[in-house]
Amino acid sequence: MEKGKECDIVQDILLNYVDEVLSNTSRKFVEEHLETCPKCQDKLNNIRKDIEESKEENEEKEIDYLKKVKKKINRKNQLLCASGIILIIIIILNIGIFIHYNISDYEMTIFLDDNITKEEKEKIENVIQAQNSNIEINYNTKEEELEKLKSKMGENQNLLSNYQGENNPCLSNYEIKAKKEDIETLEKTLMSMEGVKKVHSNITLNPYEFLYTTVYSKIIN
Ligand SMILES: [Zn+2]
Repeated sequence: MEKGKECDIVQDILLNYVDEVLSNTSRKFVEEHLETCPKCQDKLNNIRKDIEESKEENEEKEIDYLKKVKKKINRKNQLLCASGIILIIIIILNIGIFIHYNISDYEMTIFLDDNITKEEKEKIENVIQAQNSNIEINYNTKEEELEKLKSKMGENQNLLSNYQGENNPCLSNYEIKAKKEDIETLEKTLMSMEGVKKVHSNITLNPYEFLYTTVYSKIIN
C-alpha cells in the first residue's frame, strides 16, 4: 500500500486504537505502521496527551464539587452544633429556675393573737416541727417588733411614742424559713389554728407557675 494512504487509514482509526476497540488484525496493522512512521506516532502522542488533559480537567471539576459539598456539610454541622448548644443552655436555665424557686428557702411569718395561750403556742410549734424538724423557729414578742419598727423609722421614730405598752399595735409572731413545699402545707394548716391571727408567706411562683396561675387559669375560666 502507498505510505500516504496507509497514514490516512491509521489516523482514521487511531482513536479506536487508543480506546482498545480494534480487532486484532487492525491493531497489529496500526502497531506495525506506527513503528515505521514518526508522523502517525506524533498523532498518537497528541491524542494521548489530549485525553490526559481532559481527564485532569474533569478531576479538578470533581474536586471543586466535593469541596462545595464539604462546605455545605460543614455549615449544616455548625448549625446543628449551635442549636445543640442553645438547647443545653435552655436546659441549664430551666434547671436553674427549678432550683432557685423550689430548693431555696422561703420566709413565713405567723402573726399571733394578743391573748394566745401557752398551750396554743406549743401546738403551733409542734405543727411546724412535725412538718419538718429542721425548720428553725424564731419567736418575736410585740415589744421586739415595735423596736424593729422604730429603728426602721430612724429620725421619725418619735411618731411612735403614743404606741408604747398597752397601745403597741404590733403582733407577736413566729418567723420561720423553710422549703416551698413545707411553707405551702404549713400555711394551710396554721391559718385555721387557734391563736393564729394571720399567716404571711413570701413564696415566689416560678415563671411557669406564674404563667399557669395568671394566663392559663384565665383562659379556662
Ligand atoms: Zn503514518
